[in-house]
Amino acid sequence: MTFMFRVSHDIQEHIPQAVRAICDTLKDNGYQAYLVGGAVRDSLRGEAPEDWDVATDALPTTVLSLFPKTIPTGIKYGTVTVMLRGIAVEVTTFRSDGIYRDARHPEDVSFSTSIAEDLQRRDFTINAIAYDPEARKFIDPFGGRRDLGRRLLRTVGDPQERFAEDALRMLRFFRFMATLRFRPHRRTLAAIDPPRIRNVSSERIRDELSKLLLAKLPSKTLLTMHETGLLQEILPEVAQGDGITQGSFHRFDVLHHSLQALDSALPRLQLRWAALLHDAAKPMTRIEDADGIHFYGHDVEGEKLTRAILTRLRYSRELTEKVALLVRWHMFPIHSRSTDKALRRFIRKVGKENVLDLMEIRRADILALGRQATWAGWTHWETLRERLVEVMDSDATFAVSDLAVSGHDVMAALDLPPGPAVGAVLEWLLEKVLDDPQLNQRTRLLKLMQSYEKTPLVQKRQENTYQ
Ligand code: ATP
Ligand code: MG
Repeated sequence: MTFMFRVSHDIQEHIPQAVRAICDTLKDNGYQAYLVGGAVRDSLRGEAPEDWDVATDALPTTVLSLFPKTIPTGIKYGTVTVMLRGIAVEVTTFRSDGIYRDARHPEDVSFSTSIAEDLQRRDFTINAIAYDPEARKFIDPFGGRRDLGRRLLRTVGDPQERFAEDALRMLRFFRFMATLRFRPHRRTLAAIDPPRIRNVSSERIRDELSKLLLAKLPSKTLLTMHETGLLQEILPEVAQGDGITQGSFHRFDVLHHSLQALDSALPRLQLRWAALLHDAAKPMTRIEDADGIHFYGHDVEGEKLTRAILTRLRYSRELTEKVALLVRWHMFPIHSRSTDKALRRFIRKVGKENVLDLMEIRRADILALGRQATWAGWTHWETLRERLVEVMDSDATFAVSDLAVSGHDVMAALDLPPGPAVGAVLEWLLEKVLDDPQLNQRTRLLKLMQSYEKTPLVQKRQENTYQ
């Protein structure tokens, strides 16, 4: 049975003209048209939605014929994207899903003429509200608006059945908990069945995880997820930090410290992942001796672990490498009183584009010690950041390509054939310039080159130290 409400609400203000026009066209042709899904939910929460979804009883082929610009996005599942006045609207035919196979995909979907039936297949009550923009009527058979008011997240129907049908919903449950900051309905939470998540593709897990990690404060949700055992299924490396103590300097164990760091990091995906994973190798590297607790090499091991985790989750190579680098260097040893030379070496080592991200990870790491109220070192953090920015903004040279001379100059000046020797000379020059940026002038470098042959090899290969 469907309950109808006549409510005039803010939602009207949010609806773009193009979305209204699409509904009008459907209605003028004798079809039903409702706004559904996240857009209804978010505008009722007073937030401007990004995407709009329309549900209709018109069949996909009809939708294709009613609008001049369309993309058959998911015809099998009834979805056509309608492009109108610069926005894309997903128009989906009312559906009732058949038997689910492999805990993920319905065996078959059948199109329906009933909005009530369509709402029934949706995941959570707050996502199962339909709105008729013309009649200004809500169709809300599962009390979605009441749950919105109570900030309660629960499935449409029996949670065990709904999670058994489609295991991705378990992760969507936690994602919405984190992003909306809603409480979990007790029975829905109790129905979480972690091993079922193995039926879900890595890409889908990745997409939900990304949204979850970008929530304002994801830690509480991740802890709840850990309590259900789902974190262990998806990110066992993180879950294993539970109970790994770190000695007197730290207030939290590795899991709680990592989650605090996560909350403290700016909401950019690479920073959030790096904060969550920066100590992921601590459980496997922990040793305890007379001097205390140590995690030797957890940065190097952490880099490998990070790469394995993000590759497993099918993140792009670019994001994976970026996060791996941040984890690798999160222990960077420069400080507010390091020499300019040490700062330059550090910048060169990690790459200019990563320096400020590493400072952000350091900030999150310090905040997550749980002792920030008494931490007197913030001025050092700020000073170091300012100095790094200053060095990067100045004309200081960082890469061979920034040298005032080229490989051709080296070959001509030292009468060398093309080959590794040329690169060696350039590297050697770069070392000199890092020590003294004033040297980076063509005439001075050409002159300096002449002394290359005379320098003993050991000295040329000086170790890159930071101090
Ligand atoms: P977002 O703001 O992230 O877009 P959303 O609620 O719109 O949130 P979508 O993934 O865009 O999420 O899905 C649109 C709607 O489709 C949902 O609101 C929900 O009604 C329904 N839905 C999506 N995924 C599922 C699922 N796995 N099971 C049941 N219903 C789903
Ligand atoms: Mg959406």
